[in-house]
Amino acid sequence: MSDAAAVVVVGGGVIGSSIALHLRERFGGARVVVAERDPAYARSSSRLATGGIRQQYGSPLNVALARHSVGFYKRIDELTAATARPTRAWFRQRGYLFLADAEGAPGLERRLQAQRASGAACERWTPDRIRSSVPGLNVDDVVLGVFGPEDGYLDPREVLAGLRALAARAGAEYGHGAVVEVERSGGRVSGVRLETAAGERRIEAPVVVNAAGAWAASVGRAAGVEVPVTPVRQHLFRLELEEGLPSPIPMIFDPDGTHWRLDDARSPGAPDRLVIGRSRVAEPPGENFVCDESRLEDQLRTLRSRYPVARVRSLAEAWAGLYEMTQDHNALLGEHPSLPGLVVAAGFSGHGLMLAPAVGLAVAELVGGAAPPSFDITPLAVDRFERGELFLDGALI
Ligand SMILES: Cc1cc2nc3c(=O)[nH]c(=O)nc-3n(C[C@H](O)[C@H](O)[C@H](O)COP(=O)(O)OP(=O)(O)OC[C@H]3O[C@@H](n4cnc5c(N)ncnc54)[C@H](O)[C@@H]3O)c2cc1C
Repeated sequence: MSDAAAVVVVGGGVIGSSIALHLRERFGGARVVVAERDPAYARSSSRLATGGIRQQYGSPLNVALARHSVGFYKRIDELTAATARPTRAWFRQRGYLFLADAEGAPGLERRLQAQRASGAACERWTPDRIRSSVPGLNVDDVVLGVFGPEDGYLDPREVLAGLRALAARAGAEYGHGAVVEVERSGGRVSGVRLETAAGERRIEAPVVVNAAGAWAASVGRAAGVEVPVTPVRQHLFRLELEEGLPSPIPMIFDPDGTHWRLDDARSPGAPDRLVIGRSRVAEPPGENFVCDESRLEDQLRTLRSRYPVARVRSLAEAWAGLYEMTQDHNALLGEHPSLPGLVVAAGFSGHGLMLAPAVGLAVAELVGGAAPPSFDITPLAVDRFERGELFLDGALI
């Protein structure tokens, strides 16, 4: 079976769905097909994320992408109300609070300056200010806090469902199948070949967007080009608490990298929970989804000393998912220089959820040739590493 579309988006996570939504909103007549191999999204990073949304970056481009996305997330529940899948993504703008001890303070101070210079909303907090704003937090060894008042967290699973529902309502078609080849003709993209449960399917298209997350490199190989994105395992744990916290909390980052957010009770009488995690610098790259629950022990130790009012009753859920890392921990965004028609939107290095709405707009404008575009994404060019260039953001975690 063969058919034709204006654009095929490979990957229907938050990035691919946002791109499909914005493409349809801008070019309503154009047929947009999203090829997603797993409609349950079992291993998709979008479904496995923490849900942190912040604008505390150290580069004007990342801040602009994040601020635009915050505006979208404030309205997502309202926007999805009339779709087939109304959501309760519940964006709680309770802030992001980074803590530094004496050793880490100079670095956090530099980061604060870089964020301010880049236009991010952020404040310097003294230990007294932290103590009064987050009752129960132990700041005995803390000398500096940086707080982003417009940051916060939401439910990533709801966001994924909501963006997909919005894209579908705007007219994007979701086709279930794995893209095994990006076809070319006359030196440019001409379509894709998918393997589906019903057999092989071909879709002709002059533009193919690689939004395959941690699998972007393999979709690159299916197109015969290099897309330097590496999967790296991350763990998260959902903890059930003995009793409610003294007050709602921001996303809190301990100086040792452990971070946690509140997972508010969904119904009266249900327990409050925390989602907690910590990246490990030495994590070997690869497609590893094995969850090593022993990783939780260190994080519980940090939680007990830093925030002893959070008394943990039990481990409610533990899982591993993949970050989609690049060399400089920033996205690859733009047309692939070796293959006209192949657009890459991948490599978000653990920040894709908080940037997805703006990325959808940026890619739709790139494909449609909008001038001037809302964002200058050229610093995120796909071939920057080959040219020996890095996109440096002084506030990446
Ligand atoms: C544990 C963890 C915590 C995180 N926390 C945060 C956070 O707090 N805030 C934040 O902003 N980000 C966070 N992230 C990162 C964020 O989840 C990702 O950056 C984001 O989800 C990327 O979205 P995506 O759509 O590109 O990827 P995905 O959601 O992985 O979607 C890619 C899709 O492509 C599909 N696919 C792959 N290959 C093919 C193929 N050949 N054919 C068809 N389909 C294909 C996959 O099935 C998948 O559904 C976290 C990630 C993890 C793992």
